[in-house]
Amino acid sequence: MYKAKAYAAGSATSPLAQTTIPRREPTESDVRIEILFCGVCHSDLHYVRDEWHESLAAIYPCVPGHEIVGRVAEVGSAVTRFKPGDQVGVGCMVDSDRTCANCKEDLEQFCPNGVLTYGSPDKHGTAPVTYGGYSESIVVDERFVLRIPDNLDLAGAAPLLCAGITTYSPMRHWGVGEGKKVGVVGLGGLGHMAVKFARAFGAHVVVFTTSESKKEDALRLGAHEVVLSRNADEMEKHAGSFDFILDAVAAQHDINAYINLLARDGNLTMVGAPEKPLSVAVFGLIFQRRSFSGSLIGGIAETQEMLDFCGEHNITADVEVIPMQKINEAYERMLKSDVKYRFSIDMASLKSD
Ligand code: NAP
Ligand code: ZN
Repeated sequence: MYKAKAYAAGSATSPLAQTTIPRREPTESDVRIEILFCGVCHSDLHYVRDEWHESLAAIYPCVPGHEIVGRVAEVGSAVTRFKPGDQVGVGCMVDSDRTCANCKEDLEQFCPNGVLTYGSPDKHGTAPVTYGGYSESIVVDERFVLRIPDNLDLAGAAPLLCAGITTYSPMRHWGVGEGKKVGVVGLGGLGHMAVKFARAFGAHVVVFTTSESKKEDALRLGAHEVVLSRNADEMEKHAGSFDFILDAVAAQHDINAYINLLARDGNLTMVGAPEKPLSVAVFGLIFQRRSFSGSLIGGIAETQEMLDFCGEHNITADVEVIPMQKINEAYERMLKSDVKYRFSIDMASLKSD
């Protein structure tokens, strides 16, 4: 065991603060990674403040962070895919049972015995639960370590590990591509990645935002049209016209307004995970055979496919790099939808703490 510097929350109401955490010595199949950047996901905030208590209760102390990029510092004796110096990433999962039907289909995110990057029981017994990427280093089984293409900027690549795969996966699943009209609701960390992917896949892309100030950015990021969702006339113009809508909103909102924009057989997928249940008017679904579904990150193989796609198309997140010490301020700004479009923590800042 060794000690690593990290930022942790001690309770649902306390700010994050510096601490040290134990990390295991690499086992034969482990990779020890020096963390260079970690993206700040709205899920970190939901979890730290225990907003998901009923579905996923927080355990403290909590070290969040599941958009991790860094360099391999050390590998176990049986590791074959990585060597010291490699540029790598870790997303929301660090292990699974590898034997269930989901794991066999490369859908580890649905494994009943999956281990999340933070907050899951630590089967190595190093600590009560796993600790995430707001830290100077992490030790992960090589099967859950991803290769980051060399041409990608690392600060901007970090958010691909969650925001990237969470938007890439459902769009692949629902066949987003040429000839499809696709909506993206909420231009935050996930939403801005969804716009980049939908555009790269060849779809006609419409962004729905509550922030008038993001209109220009939405077009620059690749949207063909932008709709201010609080303007009923603008919404009405798109009624019954979408093949697919991805909803990446982190708070309560009227989901029926978007269901009514779907064409016959259209699908609305939720990736946003608001604290409280949403109310669905089923007539909106019944009359046009529309469907309403959800999606959770993506499997390891698909995450690597997404990273390679980003390498080929030069796609990264638009980030504001912050020092670790600014994390509590960053959370407050995230709640005001004031992020352009992802915070990425420069872990070098932790060294001076
Ligand atoms: P974010 O950066 O905070 O973006 C959320 C966006 O939602 C905001 O930028 C804002 O966009 C919009 N929004 C916020 N409050 C709103 C309100 N009251 N009404 C309507 N729109 C509002 O968050 P994120 O990191 O992208 O995460 C988004 C959600 O996805 C979170 O709930 C997160 O936990 C969840 N998530 C799910 C998965 C998964 O696997 N399913 C993975 C990662 C994250 P505008 O300013 O454009 O309106
Ligand atoms: Zn996330």
